[in-house]
Amino acid sequence: MQKGADQPIVMSGIRPTGFLHLGNYFGALKNYVRMQDEFTCYFMVADLHALTTLTETKELKANVSRVLAENIACGLDPDKVALYCQSHVYETNELYLILNMLAYVGELEKTVTFKEKVKLHPQNVNAGLLTYPVLQAADILLHRATLVPVGKDQEQHLEMTRNFSNRFNHRYGDVFPEAHAFNYGDELLKVPSLDGAGKMSKSENQYATIYLSDSDELILNKVKKAKTDSGTDPAAPMSESIVNLFNLMKLVCAPDVIKHYEDTYQSGTIRYGDLKKQLGEDMVKFISPIREKAESIRNDAKYLKEIMEKGAEKARKSAQATMLLVRDAIGLNYY
Ligand code: ADP
Repeated sequence: MQKGADQPIVMSGIRPTGFLHLGNYFGALKNYVRMQDEFTCYFMVADLHALTTLTETKELKANVSRVLAENIACGLDPDKVALYCQSHVYETNELYLILNMLAYVGELEKTVTFKEKVKLHPQNVNAGLLTYPVLQAADILLHRATLVPVGKDQEQHLEMTRNFSNRFNHRYGDVFPEAHAFNYGDELLKVPSLDGAGKMSKSENQYATIYLSDSDELILNKVKKAKTDSGTDPAAPMSESIVNLFNLMKLVCAPDVIKHYEDTYQSGTIRYGDLKKQLGEDMVKFISPIREKAESIRNDAKYLKEIMEKGAEKARKSAQATMLLVRDAIGLNYY
């Protein structure tokens, strides 16, 4: 498909709060890479979002470099997309402020991710955490994007983005199209953690998450320790931990390998040790080339600086065009 002016616009981002993992890859990055050939794409490192939970910023620079390097190592081409840092696009802050006037405290307090973070960081329940979905809406609406490749955990935030943009359009006039969460598959993905409790995540649950930077040995070890069950009664419903393992296999193993383990599960002869060994080896095959490529990019500071500058330039051009429309629609134009 040819990219053109009438093509949908794509926007998404990843926070530089730690190491990227299989959840980030399959929930977000894999779609980014495919979308870059079809659409006009804006992908950013959400460093301002990271500040909602980071109180210590010493690691920020290294984490931003890592996220950029891992994005590129996964196949993102900075010449095809705008790959930038959120904090380099100053227009984000203005739109964030304006959208805050269209977001109600009650709805923000009810957001699932806010409630989860309050539990995790009870000592740091700041207003930025509460308005996290507003900042995310600003990132998306700044480019008037309609497709947002994200994992299942972001579904509610996208619904909020639509609420804010619809309120803006209703109050001030049509500026924003509706944005929707996107995945090339049938539904949004949630990559489960290896211990069966929740999802793989950058900051929590590190031994149950497979990172794109994990060594081969560490990957094999983590998968070996993944939770299974003791029973192999094929008549009983499959336990959640085994469902999770099969779901993880679907991400990295060949169809005939998965079929083999499904058959042995059905016949009650499955050996979970063998399944985990196979899964671990297939994960190593998948991750090790990405890890090696990312490492070499991460060490090239000059190249990363060039990428960030070029990305910010492209993103600010689109952001400035939107902000002209926003200011006009509101009436913030006095001469
Ligand atoms: P994290 O939750 O690991 O800190 P972010 O909040 O920065 O990650 O999210 C970056 C992208 O990765 C988002 O699109 C998010 O939906 C996706 N994502 C994160 N974890 C998972 C997961 N376990 N499964 C699927 N997608 C995920």
